[in-house]
Amino acid sequence: MVIYVPPKPKDFKGNFWKTKDFKISIGKITDKNGSEVSEDTLTPMGPTPKPGVTDLRSWDLKLLNRYEPFYAPFCDMCCLCTYGKCDLLEKKGACGIDAEAQQARMMLLVCCIGSAAHIGHARNLLEHLIKKYGEDVPLDLGMNIDIETPIMTVVVGKKPKNLEDLREALDYVEEQISHLLSACHTGQEGNSIDFESKSLHAGLMDNLGKEIGDIAQIVALNLPKGDVRCSTGRTGTRNH
Ligand code: SF4
Repeated sequence: MVIYVPPKPKDFKGNFWKTKDFKISIGKITDKNGSEVSEDTLTPMGPTPKPGVTDLRSWDLKLLNRYEPFYAPFCDMCCLCTYGKCDLLEKKGACGIDAEAQQARMMLLVCCIGSAAHIGHARNLLEHLIKKYGEDVPLDLGMNIDIETPIMTVVVGKKPKNLEDLREALDYVEEQISHLLSACHTGQEGNSIDFESKSLHAGLMDNLGKEIGDIAQIVALNLPKGDVRCSTGRTGTRNH
């Protein structure tokens, strides 16, 4: 792969650091045959784009093995279905769940609630901004940001270019939260570690949903883009 830098003769005249308004541009990226390589093909697709609820389970289990969950007494009872109330103090519920799995189940439920709050807000925001400014608003964060959507690019495997492209990721997030919530239903899951793995997935979806809402409002409402504000003329040391 060869990177061509088009020559841009510039006469800096004296002190380089006092030079203003100069630009650096990098030309097309080509492969060894001289064909242009598109930005989308620079990185090969990973093994799990848009991972489902169980796709990252083995990795979750590694994490949970290293950072073992701690269960503090939360509630001895379960009131989540009409077979109950069930007393789980050293007993199993009518559905067969024990206190440890019930604690993990409640944690997944809590994670889904929090994630849904952020994701619902991101959906409202995105649809409102598309309605007001159009689908084609570019995801331009200026020269200092190389990867506009780091979580979406890694998890979904795509580099979105405009507001419309964010919809696909948000559809995926909403679908996953629906699956995760269904695992909280009576009799769907019985192992605390599997609930914990799903809680980690809910956290991943939460962060992705927040990223989508955040990037949408930054580009559409022209919010601060993390520009580096530093005067090169004021760097250096003073001897007096
Ligand atoms: S979900 Fe299970 S433990 Fe909870 S009330 Fe229903 S049967 Fe009892």
